[in-house]
Amino acid sequence: MRILPPDLLLWLWAGALAVGHAASNGREPDDEACAVERERMVTDQIEARGVRDPAVLAAMREVPRHLFVPAALRSHAYEDHPLEIGYGQTISQPFIVALMTALAKPTPSTRVLEIGTGCGYQAAVLSRLVEHVFSVDVNDDLAQQASARLERLGYANVTVRRGDGHAGWEREAPFEIILVTAAPERVPQALIDQLAPGGRLVIPVGPRHAQELQLIEKAAGGPPGARTVAPVVFVPMVRDPDRR
Ligand code: SAH
Repeated sequence: MRILPPDLLLWLWAGALAVGHAASNGREPDDEACAVERERMVTDQIEARGVRDPAVLAAMREVPRHLFVPAALRSHAYEDHPLEIGYGQTISQPFIVALMTALAKPTPSTRVLEIGTGCGYQAAVLSRLVEHVFSVDVNDDLAQQASARLERLGYANVTVRRGDGHAGWEREAPFEIILVTAAPERVPQALIDQLAPGGRLVIPVGPRHAQELQLIEKAAGGPPGARTVAPVVFVPMVRDPDRR
């Protein structure tokens, strides 16, 4: 995989945000039109930028992103930028979803923990590639809505619960992959602990304006090794307001 230089990545994100607010025609996009847009999204935004894993591309082609975003934003679902999903949260730019998925190197026998369910899109993409996805969101409404949406759309191998991702999901650990879609200031120790030997943690880390995407690999028998992949912009990983 070719990783983009940091300045280009930020430019892509910011530029796309400006374009993304082009006027919507207010109509519901039909499935056929969406399939065409989705194909273009995969070719132009993802493959062209260096994510080439065929299984990841197939999953991005398959999952109907427009059914995960709020109805008013459906006509923008396949554009090259993040979208608001309510409660001040965002679904990531398609390229970032694909990049993080590819970095995780999913295989069919893998069990994955996702922190930050949001609208459930990233969980749905992962679910096409692995055995089971466990996804945690601190926001009860988002967790419930995503769970209902995933069930309605037939993603039976995803389990969602409300909780603080800083603590991971002890009862289901260990996980071969942990993928985090909200940025903590530091990598939570529980996530390292709940990673299986040889497992991979893909996580944005750092304060709001200086986050970087990290890939942490837990070598069997050795200390975990981290590498920085790219600068990114994610919503912060907050503390659970119900736990003091
Ligand atoms: N992966 C999502 C997008 C995530 S947006 C998707 O595909 O739509 C970030 C999400 O992280 C939000 O839903 C937010 O509620 C959640 N979040 C923030 N802090 C969290 C925490 N401590 N534990 C779990 N989820 C958290």
